[in-house]
Amino acid sequence: ETLTNQIAAGEVIERPASVVKELVENAIDAKASQIEIEFIDAGLKEVIVRDNGSGIASEDLDLAFRRHATSKISKERDLFKIATLGFRGEALASIVAVSHTEVITSTDGIKGVKAEFAGGEKLSEETHASTKGTEIKVSDLFYNTPARLKYLKSPRTETMKIVDIVNRLALGHSEIAFTLKNEGKLLLKTPGNNNLRQDLANIYGRFIAKDMIEFSKEDPDFKVSGLLSVPETTRSNRNFVSILLNGRYIKNYQLTKAILAGYGSKIAQGRYPIAVILIELDPFLVDVNVHPTKEQVRLSKEKELSRLITEGISTALLENTS
Ligand code: ADP
Ligand code: MG
Repeated sequence: ETLTNQIAAGEVIERPASVVKELVENAIDAKASQIEIEFIDAGLKEVIVRDNGSGIASEDLDLAFRRHATSKISKERDLFKIATLGFRGEALASIVAVSHTEVITSTDGIKGVKAEFAGGEKLSEETHASTKGTEIKVSDLFYNTPARLKYLKSPRTETMKIVDIVNRLALGHSEIAFTLKNEGKLLLKTPGNNNLRQDLANIYGRFIAKDMIEFSKEDPDFKVSGLLSVPETTRSNRNFVSILLNGRYIKNYQLTKAILAGYGSKIAQGRYPIAVILIELDPFLVDVNVHPTKEQVRLSKEKELSRLITEGISTALLENTS
């Protein structure tokens, strides 16, 4: 049981940034309006995620930390229509399998519960006063699976990966106020007032954000919108392109190509814009259940969506550069 849990954990929790991603996605699913993230030692010593969302009821706590237990899907039919970021019920179980984890949570801001886990086992549980929401502190990641540590990159790279995923989730959720701190130092603060340009300014700088071009286009299946850097502002890698599908950060080669096609010859070969592309669609049109980390998805009507993105971008660029 312990071993299978550790093996399964490796699929979802590859590195400290995976812990951050899963905990923040849970906070988003819990309808938080504020999410605070702190980490120490590239996330290996400690990751803390605090939210003011729904909280976990004490009677649901054990279930929440059990593998394949999710509160987000109740019928098989729901698997084809996933509206939350999580649904596999793997993240918390995976995290507690490979760390020391402490959770403090309350559904009403009056009574709450505090519990500790290590290596997949619950060590303690007690009532604990808390504001409404959930705080999860993950310490000593991979302490019991030292082989995992060898796959990690330098502390600097692991730190960048944490910053990167928080930035993208913040861009996908302008309605949520995010703060991110590394060893107490503030790295990101977004106001949560639905102002994407402001969020981009906080992430990429005011100078870049102020010139970015708005675009939006829809057809009966998809609504795409976002902000695009002017063709003069490009980067040599695609990391500055963020695609968010119903608020989920995804990697998708075809859609990235569609974005580039929208710029056409306005940007040089091998260069990429800075762009945030928000896609809204009926969850029926996307299969998220392709890979445990859910970063790769399978899209029905991918060609139609690609065309919409390319057209939307090229029209917006034409209107703004003439
Ligand atoms: P999933 O997100 O796929 O359902 P997780 O392992 O990430 O699985 O979480 C398990 C369950 O724990 C969730 O379904 C949810 O009910 C609960 N949960 C986890 N994190 C939070 C949170 N921050 N606020 C409220 N509930 C949470
Ligand atoms: Mg989850």
